[in-house]
Amino acid sequence: MPVHYLDNAATTPVRPAALETMVPLLATHYGNPSGAHRMARDANRVLDDAREAMAAALGAAPGEIVFTAGGTEADNLAVTGVVNHVRASTGRPAVPICSAVEHHAVLDPVVHHGGDVVAVTGAGAVDLDELAAALERRAGPGGDGVALVSVMLANNETGVIQPLDRIVELVRTSAPEALVHTDAVQALCWIDVAEAAAEADLLSVSAHKFGGPKGVGALVVRDRPGLASIVLDPLLKGGGQERERRGGTQNVAGIAAMAVAATETVAERPTAVPRVAALRDRLADGIRSRVDGVVETGVPAGTDDRSAKTANLCHLCFEGIESEALLFLLEKDDIMASAASSCASGAMEPSHVLAAMGFDRDLAFGSLRLSLGYDTTDADVDAAIGSVPAAVERLRARGS
Ligand code: PLP
Repeated sequence: MPVHYLDNAATTPVRPAALETMVPLLATHYGNPSGAHRMARDANRVLDDAREAMAAALGAAPGEIVFTAGGTEADNLAVTGVVNHVRASTGRPAVPICSAVEHHAVLDPVVHHGGDVVAVTGAGAVDLDELAAALERRAGPGGDGVALVSVMLANNETGVIQPLDRIVELVRTSAPEALVHTDAVQALCWIDVAEAAAEADLLSVSAHKFGGPKGVGALVVRDRPGLASIVLDPLLKGGGQERERRGGTQNVAGIAAMAVAATETVAERPTAVPRVAALRDRLADGIRSRVDGVVETGVPAGTDDRSAKTANLCHLCFEGIESEALLFLLEKDDIMASAASSCASGAMEPSHVLAAMGFDRDLAFGSLRLSLGYDTTDADVDAAIGSVPAAVERLRARGS
């Protein structure tokens, strides 16, 4: 039986070209890139090439790329690195601000530093009036100051895209001293990140969301022409790698594989987006037309307008069932999916993203995330259209 992998927002299959790059490098380029001899220089050259490729994919300069061990580290480094530096250099208790639908890799450090979490609308977009009010309160006279505002490009549960341009504009006028960070971990396959995040000061990506290996990522830290350079307090202190921004010997082979995956992803994006969007639309329409009592998140009620979402996400909430039981039945049909974000699954709390969008607990407990990827096929979509409505009806009939 073929497996129907519809959990690409959790992680993606490694692209063949990334694998073919990575495995031989483990054997041949094991020199420490910080060393002084020829083998070290060879490894360092691999890093240089990867840095250039990542910079091209993200619309950055090579010197702006900081390699990390994944998206969580990149997000933590952006928030904590900036907050700690601003507090130490200004003596002010400046805070971070983020949206209520951020991944926990942003949300938790923001809360840890005493920052503000800004509400979103029912459609999942940051409430710009609330953001303006938070900026005014914190950056205005008598406020603590704002170190950083972090808003993701695309949400990992719903796929809702944030109005980053308007957010940057608001921050530049209301709190000009604050930096803007965007978590683009879910975005690279589906959005032109170079263009959409051109005005952000910091940007995080993670290789395993676009066909690279797990445990590798990058943070872009912009060198802003004419402005003071952005200084981060490193989270990992040590050998001074990555221009003193991230200590630790780099994962040379993993980073090279990430760069290959990013380059392929960006090159394929113009064809991948319409292809995957058409599959996703067929999937969402197919399920919605076969079962009642379903809400599709990020889509205006009574419509099939998915223009506010990334092409890959079909996120549905079913009345009267529990996601865990649904996932169990789908797995029996070889369909791999998630309830919400995979990091949160297992915990019996409804997703904070759905709660922030105003979903009641019952509906939030019946959520299903089907996320498509670069290699999703018509057969995967057909299988899910065949299984999901039947499984939902079965669970409703038995009352769970
Ligand atoms: N940010 C978002 C939006 C994510 O979806 C994820 C992973 O699910 C992360 C950050 C964390 O990335 P990583 O798994 O590479 O630590």
